Amino acid sequence: MSEAELHVLRARLRGGLLNKARRGELRCPLPAGMVYDAAGRVVLDPDKQVQETVRLLFETFARTGTLRATIKYFRQQHLLFPTRVAAGAHKGELLWTPLSLGRACTALHNPWYAGAYVFGRCRHHKRADGRFWYERLPQEQWQVLIRDAHPGYICWEEYERNQQQLRQSAKALGFQRNAGPPREGSALLQGKVICGLCGSRMNVHYNPRKDGAVPNYVCVGRGRLFGDPLCQSIVGTGIDEAVGQLLVDTVTPVALDLALAVQQEITSRLDEADRLRHRQVERAQYEADSARRRYMHVDPANRLVADALETDWNLKLRALAEAQQDYERQRAADRFTVDEQERQRILALATDFPAVWRDPKTPQRERKRMLALLIEDVTLIKQHQITAAVRFRGGATTTLTLPRPLNASQMRATHQDVLQEINRLLNEYTDAKVAHILNERGVRTGAGDAFNTVSVKWVRYSAKIKSLKERLIDEGWLTVKQVSTELGITRSAIYRRRLRGELQGRLCNDHGQWLYWLPDELSTRSPNEITSSVSSTAGDAV
Ligand SMILES: [Zn+2]
Repeated sequence: MSEAELHVLRARLRGGLLNKARRGELRCPLPAGMVYDAAGRVVLDPDKQVQETVRLLFETFARTGTLRATIKYFRQQHLLFPTRVAAGAHKGELLWTPLSLGRACTALHNPWYAGAYVFGRCRHHKRADGRFWYERLPQEQWQVLIRDAHPGYICWEEYERNQQQLRQSAKALGFQRNAGPPREGSALLQGKVICGLCGSRMNVHYNPRKDGAVPNYVCVGRGRLFGDPLCQSIVGTGIDEAVGQLLVDTVTPVALDLALAVQQEITSRLDEADRLRHRQVERAQYEADSARRRYMHVDPANRLVADALETDWNLKLRALAEAQQDYERQRAADRFTVDEQERQRILALATDFPAVWRDPKTPQRERKRMLALLIEDVTLIKQHQITAAVRFRGGATTTLTLPRPLNASQMRATHQDVLQEINRLLNEYTDAKVAHILNERGVRTGAGDAFNTVSVKWVRYSAKIKSLKERLIDEGWLTVKQVSTELGITRSAIYRRRLRGELQGRLCNDHGQWLYWLPDELSTRSPNEITSSVSSTAGDAV
């Protein structure tokens, strides 16, 4: 058959399919949660668990408004999502797997769930190597769209609302945002940090504080795709300073020249390896070519031989593609090398690097550019301390260890000297008076505020320091109640005695509570004497 005839045949077949699809009669692969019934109509999956899980996906998205929150909810509730195997021996079977971002996204974009019959949402293109890639078309270019063609999980309005919502969210989600070019923020290592626990690139988050935003290096890890908790998050200030200092210390013209020379050497060795690897690709190419020739030369009538040769040719082509991929991958990995122009820039930088780096007028973006010239990446691990493995351009590595930054409560803790001073003052003064004295001396709390009764009380409580009242009671001072029992007199009598100077009392807190000191001869008198004294006091009072 001639090429032209084949072409016409194919076009007719395609036309037939399209006509059938236009009538909504062409069977298409259905998403999980929908099946064909015996009569060939699309219905909801009779399996209640499947139905409820699919419904829950749409409900959760409607409630939370984001895909991430949706997959997070599924993960927290330990829920799996049904999916149909698309190809292979188990094609069409139902599997339960964790809901990933991709799966949730596909489901929300799928118009079949909204009761619509759709055909031609994608267009496929053939690549030079024989493989296909699929392009997703916008809705107005779909070949067939029949609304309300079958029962769905959501209505068409909700489907469109979801699309709108997803488009909004997509703006904030760029996959290379964390490896981008230097931007304005203060985080020095932006775009250069790699998580030492899982290998992902770390993002920069800025935390607003009183004295400007503080960068945090955050690894979302599997969180973005599967809703897992954060992998690790590290306060960036200490790391930025240490890396900056490392650069200032190590970047001297001599050191840089040496490093670049070593790198030149390594590059020439890499070229050697590269040539060897390319041989493998050439060999695979040769084998594929000869397999093709063998296939071309065989008599087409000899089907058995022709089939075997065709299979062989296919295998050889696949091997060739793999060899090429391997080669490209390795080549890309080797190529963090420095070309001559960059080399000159780096050497020029080295002459007065520390001065430029430390100059407060140098914008942070420029510092980041300089850093990008010198450093390949920094791998961070937070354990008992923070380990930062710095990989320089040219391959040298240095590992820095830093103490873990203080947490919020440690940073706000009162200084040890101040604690001791408060402890000393409390021998004499109440909380309010202590606060007053400290403020007069210009002493501040750990958070940098002035002291007041509440903060002194809080310091006492957290450092387990006794109050003035507790100290006085320990020394043997008595409360009004105790004195009244001891002496058998009323509160007002005690008050009058104190005013007359017959009883020694002192204020023990800021609520006007008094404590009294009973001399030994008063408290150790016999019960008779106490009674007589009470009667005489009573007489005085009258
Ligand atoms: Zn991580």
